[in-house]
Amino acid sequence: SCKMSVEEEVDGNKILAEALVAQGLKYVFGIVGIPVIELSMALQQAGLHFVGMRNEQAACYAAQAIGYLTKRPGVCLVVSGPGLLHTLGGMANAQINCWPLLVIGGSCAQDHEGIGGFQECPQVDLARPYCKYSARPAGLTLIPTHVEKAVRMSVYGRPGVSYLDFPANLLAQQVASSKVVQTAICPEPPLTWPDPALVSEAAKLIRTARRPLVIVGKGAAYAGAEVAVRDLVRAFELPVLSTPMGKGVVDDDDVHCVSSARTTALQYADTILLLGARLNWILHFGRPPRFDPRVRIIQVDICAEELHNSVPAKVAVHADIGVFVRQLIEQLSSQAWCFRVMSPWWGQLNSKSDENKAVVMNMAQDTRVPLNYYTVFHCIQETIPKDCIIVSEGANTMDIGRTMLLNRLPKHRLDAGTFGTMGVGLGFAIAAALWCQDHAPDKRTICVEGDSAFGFSGMEIETMFRYKLPIIIIIVNNNGIYSGFDEETFKSIRKEGKVTKVQKFVVTAHRQYRHDTTVINDIGNKDTANTAVTNNTVSKDTVNTPFINDIASKAKKRSTAEKYIIA
Ligand code: ADP
Ligand code: MG
Repeated sequence: SCKMSVEEEVDGNKILAEALVAQGLKYVFGIVGIPVIELSMALQQAGLHFVGMRNEQAACYAAQAIGYLTKRPGVCLVVSGPGLLHTLGGMANAQINCWPLLVIGGSCAQDHEGIGGFQECPQVDLARPYCKYSARPAGLTLIPTHVEKAVRMSVYGRPGVSYLDFPANLLAQQVASSKVVQTAICPEPPLTWPDPALVSEAAKLIRTARRPLVIVGKGAAYAGAEVAVRDLVRAFELPVLSTPMGKGVVDDDDVHCVSSARTTALQYADTILLLGARLNWILHFGRPPRFDPRVRIIQVDICAEELHNSVPAKVAVHADIGVFVRQLIEQLSSQAWCFRVMSPWWGQLNSKSDENKAVVMNMAQDTRVPLNYYTVFHCIQETIPKDCIIVSEGANTMDIGRTMLLNRLPKHRLDAGTFGTMGVGLGFAIAAALWCQDHAPDKRTICVEGDSAFGFSGMEIETMFRYKLPIIIIIVNNNGIYSGFDEETFKSIRKEGKVTKVQKFVVTAHRQYRHDTTVINDIGNKDTANTAVTNNTVSKDTVNTPFINDIASKAKKRSTAEKYIIA
């Protein structure tokens, strides 16, 4: 009878969980322990999808991949001290990739701070260099305010990372629910419109170009500008080049894609339309000798601070790529202009492209042992579904995989990215597979890993198994991390004090993987090509097309996770 007069009390866990739901977040990846055990339960009660991972770093990779795919941050939930420290590599990766991410860390109770609390650590300060926003709510009634701000900071302007810190006492504290400061959902970020004068400027430069080139980066993929960009290159017959994760905004198979003549395209282009890519190491800084020093750059970026970086742009446009490209199309159409396929530039690009394709095809046909990467990737490319999400990391595995494994759709390639982080693959694949479950249940996630890259986060294979995620992992095993000396050479160096021969340094031993984890052994490795390989791993005798065809049947079928059993 007195029920009506007693106000409902809520604790920090519940307030936080409901605030995350109120901001439209869906996925939480993390590892549970003190002081976030009750929080993880509150999250699930509130309807969030919690995925328990094996290492915080991988959890952080998964959360940021969800952020990239959905444009709403994935949450990474970790414990205090070491838990938060393990995420820093992941946070840096997200921040440098410009991907939205929200990290939530439990921390030691405030009355234990300064006297050696369990896992006590200055978490807000430690997270700050890798974040756009790092804060601890001053009280539990303010939690929704901070959650809204953290989400807004992660997706507005240039996307990035937010960190929120929750001391144990704050999570456990209770308050009358009416006291909680409620916050509205943070709306989608506003679209930045270009200055019309700059659109005309850009159109003029493109019209007067003799050797135009469109460069598409992962910013264009993030922007969801694929329809506009495809319309642009097709309507005006413009050559287009993608960065690694820009692949698929324009289909790699499209006739306008000149990736097979990449060096020539970059070197001789006189006018470049740069759509959501930075002129950093991935694009050789936009400078000679890889670029023409007189090249006129039209740079389009959502981040004003990025404009003119490394090379001054002729036209610097602060705008959303989709909006800008639509307006550019309008401008160019009104002048009935088209860059003709018959131009000398197209001739140069096409003949270079044919030449390079022939060289690659030749290598891809070579089945001698040790097998070369091109042969392996050619077979994989021939057999995997054309619309699958490809996760790729490793040194040669990633670099050669980038040219050999094609993407038809945007955001369908996830790799080591701008920061060149190895170990991202399994976390990314987990996120991609979950995304597929929700958005495209028949789509497959294929993880193509170098053996060393796989090793960084290999234990996440157990996470895939536990959640029955249909992921295929292909490990291209050349048995090591970079090169070094074999035993004899090493001994002789010790004896004679000089290097005689440089060979592979065997860091990782051969292992036996079973079932869907397909290991292609002895790639490009002369030293270990004779190593006996047993069970379901593949020896030099079986590394051939019939074996790789097996990948196809697995890839096409929706495999179940029961098959992920590691020896
Ligand atoms: P890549 O690795 O493909 O070269 P980068 O990560 O270097 O790509 O560059 C992506 C760029 O795209 C960043 O500078 C980012 O600010 C920008 N960007 C992200 N989203 C948008 C958008 N919607 N419109 C315009 N630029 C964007
Ligand atoms: Mg290797």
